[in-house]
Amino acid sequence: MQNQNNIFDTPIEYIKGVGPQRGESLKKELKLFTLNDLIGYFPFRYIDRTKFYTTQEISDELPFVQLKGYIKSFQTLGEGNAKRMSAIFKDESGSVELVWFKGLKWIEKTYFVNTPYIVFGKASKFGTKFNIVHPEIEVFSPENVSLLGSLQPVYNSTELLKNRGLDSRGISKIIKSALAMLPQKMEETLSIEVLERLKFVDRLFAIQQIHFPTNVENLKKSEFRLKFEELFFLQLNILRNKVIRNHTIHGHIFEKVGNYFNSFYHNYLPFELTNAQKRVIKEIRSDTITGKQMNRLLQGDVGSGKTVVALLCMLLAKDNGAQSCLMAPTEILAQQHYNSLSELINKMDLKISLLTGSTKKKEKNQILEQLQAGEIDFIIGTHALIEDPVIFKNLGLVVIDEQHRFGVAQRAALWKKNIKPPHVLVMTATPIPRTLAMTLYGDLDVSIIDELPPGRKPIKTVHYYESKRLALIKFLKDEIAKGRQIYIVYPLIKESEAMDYADLEAGFEAVCRDFPLPNYKVSIVHGKMKPKDKDYEMQQFVEGKTNIMVATTVIEVGVNVPNASVMVIESTERFGLSQLHQLRGRVGRGAEQSYCILMTGFKLSHEARVRIETMCNTNDGFEISEVDLKLRGPGDIDGTQQSGILDMKIADLAKDQPILKLAREFAIEILDKDSTLTSPDNLPILKAYKRLYQGKALWSKIS
Ligand code: ADP
Ligand code: MG
Repeated sequence: MQNQNNIFDTPIEYIKGVGPQRGESLKKELKLFTLNDLIGYFPFRYIDRTKFYTTQEISDELPFVQLKGYIKSFQTLGEGNAKRMSAIFKDESGSVELVWFKGLKWIEKTYFVNTPYIVFGKASKFGTKFNIVHPEIEVFSPENVSLLGSLQPVYNSTELLKNRGLDSRGISKIIKSALAMLPQKMEETLSIEVLERLKFVDRLFAIQQIHFPTNVENLKKSEFRLKFEELFFLQLNILRNKVIRNHTIHGHIFEKVGNYFNSFYHNYLPFELTNAQKRVIKEIRSDTITGKQMNRLLQGDVGSGKTVVALLCMLLAKDNGAQSCLMAPTEILAQQHYNSLSELINKMDLKISLLTGSTKKKEKNQILEQLQAGEIDFIIGTHALIEDPVIFKNLGLVVIDEQHRFGVAQRAALWKKNIKPPHVLVMTATPIPRTLAMTLYGDLDVSIIDELPPGRKPIKTVHYYESKRLALIKFLKDEIAKGRQIYIVYPLIKESEAMDYADLEAGFEAVCRDFPLPNYKVSIVHGKMKPKDKDYEMQQFVEGKTNIMVATTVIEVGVNVPNASVMVIESTERFGLSQLHQLRGRVGRGAEQSYCILMTGFKLSHEARVRIETMCNTNDGFEISEVDLKLRGPGDIDGTQQSGILDMKIADLAKDQPILKLAREFAIEILDKDSTLTSPDNLPILKAYKRLYQGKALWSKIS
């Protein structure tokens, strides 16, 4: 086997057709260092070379055309740099121009008039006519046609690589020579059991077929195996780290439910908990009693009541002699949490403090002292909590709100604030598609609040075109007359020349015109305001002193004004789905019927239409997140950038959900039986796993 590994480790420059110069470029541009890297560089699509077009069918939209015919004439045109060769290529339906700028002599010697050829390339429009620049040309013969193979791989390349002759075709050539170097049999990466149960094709076969498929069926089988493998090892790593963590790290044991918890629960909790809230608290309780360190993700839609769950956990920590901290992504949110928690516990003998970037030095120093002395029970704050001078006496619980704004590294920093790592509860109101959750948070336990507090009326969402503006204004005035408040949200702060979208300032003026003083009062909040002014305006609205809040998306996260019953979103087509869902979550917090009104112009892209329809059809954040993932792909979903899930070679989290699910189930089953992967059956898995993950930072270990 030693031998085999050597072949796979062959430096890329030693592969036939590569050499030192191209080798350097492949390393630099595509991070391909060895033969193994190269054969793992998979095509991103395939071209069907069995399909022939006629010259008449040529259009701009076709990514490529393949034609059958002959060259009628050659002509050399231009001088110096502009020198080029042009040929007229004819088939029975008409003709098209072929053009070359380089290698003119060679072209002249190689191709002849009146010989049947297959021509392949991208046709572009030049004036009114089409031409094909630097086409691929082959002699037409039945054998050649069958040699083309039905599916030709297309690889991503870069400018630099193309200049070195490594366009998609060039890459496919060197991959062919790399494949030729492989031994007859490749070492297996999966156990016999997995291979048999999933009826996988042989590994070597899969790799050959993924590059040069002989037919669609073989390609599908190979894709299935390679996608599974990629996702399986990813899950195996995530889950194994979790196993290791649970074995090696000892958490605080919160053994008793004591006076603080009980007294709050029975005397001060202003409502009955929902069943979902109760279930989550039980889940947390069973984590924190075992001696393992809790790492739990709490997902619950906006308004589902996560804060009180966090508070109950903090009380549990206090009952067991530990301090808690709650970290929020913005100052406004931290302040709001501080206010609402303070109010809930104000009759109890507990010390709660707020620490943010704008806490005055003197006060801050005092807080730091009290924290270290263990005099503060609950500290609420922003990033300021992560800073080094923040030292706890005995930190037992970390609650992180609105998770997606914090990176993994920040979570890790909080971990380290105690010798015995604190329990971590991550709360997010951005529902995450299941597949992403399995990967981004695959090592966290997940709790879900899937039920809203009783008495909430589902928000009614409607889509209005601009032509309905007068009706909208009347409706808003009626709502204000009933004592309600209204948000109007704009996507932009400054008018962008290229786009004629409603702009905040113009919008503000229009709103002031449509809702004149003294009957109506309007606030405005946007990202470019000074925090002080922003807070002032926000406060005016929170206290009900203004009727309308005109804003940009700064109000997206967390703000709580139960009396606000209408959310108007201007130029809705410019917002992403999760953003729209977050915005809508600002209303529907009180007992009144709430509305979300999506304003748009008449011209809507297909995608914008899907987003708007989805919003009108459902209030379910999970459903919305699944649509969002399908529309945007994983790359644009919050939190994915740092996670590495975009680096996948073949699997696609938006499309391969069933395979991911399967891979995770297999990983769980295997680890359940053999958590160290030491059974002989699992040896291939262990070896492959080590090869993949050796030396990589185990981020998930500290998430
Ligand atoms: P989110 O999950 O979005 O953070 P909050 O914790 O801010 O939601 O709760 C939203 C509102 O619902 C708050 O005003 C809170 O007091 C209220 N609430 C929470 N749980 C319940 C419940 N079980 N019954 C009634 N109201 C509740
Ligand atoms: Mg919240």
